Amino acid sequence: MEITADRVVTIHYTLKNDGGVVIDSSDGGEPLAYIQGHGNLVVGLEKALEGKRDGDTLAVVIEPADGYGRRDEALIKRLPKRALQGSGEIKKGMQFQAQTEQGVRLFTVTALAGDMVTLDGNHPLADQRLHFEVKVVEVREATSEELEHGHVHGAGGHHH
Ligand code: ZN
Repeated sequence: MEITADRVVTIHYTLKNDGGVVIDSSDGGEPLAYIQGHGNLVVGLEKALEGKRDGDTLAVVIEPADGYGRRDEALIKRLPKRALQGSGEIKKGMQFQAQTEQGVRLFTVTALAGDMVTLDGNHPLADQRLHFEVKVVEVREATSEELEHGHVHGAGGHHH
């Protein structure tokens, strides 16, 4: 079956950066299941998978604009610690969700200096070219319930 919008696609994938370092992989684990055309994967990968079939393998290089985006300096914020009240002791690497003009984003504490905290709302893979190797394991129609929920049920997806 061909990959197109509203079909459930199960893939095995390996993601590497420009240096050939493995950033993420489903190797040795459960494959990833997603619904095509719902923005569950980065844009560039959905585009590359459109029209592929069960058993196909592909290697695709995705530019940051079609991946996790460009690094945006406006998403780096310096705040007084008291603005994060109720979070207990603030440490480097802690993450907070915050509302921005682009919706809810995850911010990571990248620096602490005196009373000030630096938070970075950029995706850790922003500005990176993504090298994906993908094997299409299965393609099937989504159930109406899956389309309603916007995610896959069963193997590789949600169990509820
Ligand atoms: Zn569900």
